[in-house]
Amino acid sequence: MAGNSCPGEELTIKKFQEAMKAAYYKRDSERGLMATFAWLVEEVGELAEALLKGDKLSIKEEIADVIAWTFSIANLVGVDVEDALKMKYKNDIEKVTMLNDSTGES
Ligand SMILES: [Mg+2]
Repeated sequence: MAGNSCPGEELTIKKFQEAMKAAYYKRDSERGLMATFAWLVEEVGELAEALLKGDKLSIKEEIADVIAWTFSIANLVGVDVEDALKMKYKNDIEKVTMLNDSTGES
């Protein structure tokens, strides 16, 4: 896939998880959890290769692939990624929110 942004409204974590579920949940379920995890690991390998080559477009694409396959895993095991991030990185998110509030950014 090319590195262009989708037109239209802002992409949220929830929206992306829903899109991944609609597009891939059936196929991921049929493949199974650990076979899907193997695809994620392969994408991590592709990201490593892209980082070693230093090719910015490839790095961007492989980061997207790693995130997409991570969402596939999350969907298979029923984890809400936004909730997981809020739980795990609560303090970091609060720091940015407070910083944005004080500078008037949204
Ligand atoms: Mg890839």
